[in-house]
Amino acid sequence: MGEIGGFKKFARADPPERGPGERIGDHREFVRSLPLVELQEQGARCMECGVPFCHHGCPLGNLIPDWNDLVYRDRFREAIDQLHRTNNFPEFTGRLCPAPCEAACVLEIDEGNAVTIKQIELAIVNRAWEEGWIVPELPASRSGRTVAVVGSGPAGLACAQQLNRTGHTVTVFERDEAGGGLVRFGIPDFKIEKDVVERRLAQLAEEGIEFRFGVDVGSDIDATELRESFDAVVLATGSRVPRNLGVPGRELGGVHFAMEYLYGRNRDVAGTAPATISAQGKHVIVIGGGDTGADCVASAHREAAASVTQIELLGEPPPQRSDELTPWPLWPVKLRTSYALKEGGERSFAISTTHLSGGERVERIHWQQNSGEPPFAPVPGTEESHPAELVLLAMGFVGPEPGLPDALGVERDGRGNIAAATYAASVPGVFAAGDARRGQSLIVWAIEEGRRCADAVNAWFHANCLEPVAAAAKQ
Ligand SMILES: Cc1cc2nc3c(=O)[nH]c(=O)nc-3n(C[C@H](O)[C@H](O)[C@H](O)COP(=O)(O)OP(=O)(O)OC[C@H]3O[C@@H](n4cnc5c(N)ncnc54)[C@H](O)[C@@H]3O)c2cc1C
Ligand code: SF4
Repeated sequence: MGEIGGFKKFARADPPERGPGERIGDHREFVRSLPLVELQEQGARCMECGVPFCHHGCPLGNLIPDWNDLVYRDRFREAIDQLHRTNNFPEFTGRLCPAPCEAACVLEIDEGNAVTIKQIELAIVNRAWEEGWIVPELPASRSGRTVAVVGSGPAGLACAQQLNRTGHTVTVFERDEAGGGLVRFGIPDFKIEKDVVERRLAQLAEEGIEFRFGVDVGSDIDATELRESFDAVVLATGSRVPRNLGVPGRELGGVHFAMEYLYGRNRDVAGTAPATISAQGKHVIVIGGGDTGADCVASAHREAAASVTQIELLGEPPPQRSDELTPWPLWPVKLRTSYALKEGGERSFAISTTHLSGGERVERIHWQQNSGEPPFAPVPGTEESHPAELVLLAMGFVGPEPGLPDALGVERDGRGNIAAATYAASVPGVFAAGDARRGQSLIVWAIEEGRRCADAVNAWFHANCLEPVAAAAKQ
């Protein structure tokens, strides 16, 4: 274990960040790393609990106490092997995960004092890339079976890597011009620079995975044809249908889904296509208080918006973990101030938008306070109106696009997600993973789903003793 009593000797230290005033001037990542000695002290805080609740909190079951100890002992080479045993892309989760493991850490019983697990994870994988320890891992032999993975988000990539390493021949179909899904085109560079994604894609390609970018399955390739050409098909298409705002004025110019804005910003920053939606000099309203909304707020800051306001339908949560609502080790419902709001802007809770007004373009937003919980009864006399020249709808996603699952004839569940309780969909040989299966979620869950789905595909191949016929048919 780390150092006996280490948690009493060393205080928790969060990773350093570039100051808000500086970082909104560019698009570079703003979270930095602690120096080695301080990182080791953070590793020393881990008590290597008899029952490590951090495991319970981590969807991937990461071997957290093991690599906390290895970092404490400066044995990073072994730490990356431990980390990769359960997580294909620790550089994604080390940057982007909300860290449910930290919420579940035994030290978090004393709120705010968990081991800084996420920071340690990122330090391990950063060091591994710097040292050249992460190299392509090719399978010893090929099975002759072929798998098509549709979607190159974290679920599709994890699934593809696991299947390829087992020896199957994997082709990833992706309708965007490059890989990574939301990690590349939804989440901005200042949270994850895209060479981090590119570097991992290169590893997968060198391992033998074929990427076919710019191919929309169901439109550029017939879905049934795809199924017939491969021994198995994995749908990892994400949860991409955004929740709409059904109020008068929704149709006005300047009202957009958040993803239209964020995809445009990502391409603009990458220099591949100029953005068509701009926040520059505008009064921006972001409707929705989650991750997507925060990324819109922060992007608007970097475009020098005149003002940015984020509004949320739900009421304000308690300032600290509530032992009645969400006791340790559950993920606590509590007030959090996003990195984006630390950079500026206003936020309001318990707000219901009543309508948008303007000429051809939106000019004002009209809202009313509500009770803060379902059914969000309006509070009389609280009507207000505010300038709004760009309105971004970041109210979550209702499920996967139905076209491809319907074309393949796979069933969907009551929420519209692909029904695949064991990752196998209702049509033999078709599988699903990630947000397309579980609904809008997190990267850590997408990776876990991709890994479990790969296990399900393997089990199906074994159970059915399938001859790799599709490969022959492709010749
Ligand atoms: C703005 C934003 C910020 C977020 N921030 C965070 C965060 O900080 N931390 C976190 O943990 N999670 C975050 N999330 C959630 C996280 O990004 C998702 O849960 C995760 O990316 C889901 O992975 P996935 O592989 O299932 O789907 P996706 O990442 O959505 O990937 C699906 C892929 O399938 C492709 N595709 C879809 N249909 C087809 C088709 N017919 N043919 C070919 N390709 C197709 C899409 O183009 C896409 O590339 C964020 C989400 C958003 C929207
Ligand atoms: S729960 Fe916290 S202290 Fe215990 S083993 Fe996990 S990281 Fe270490």
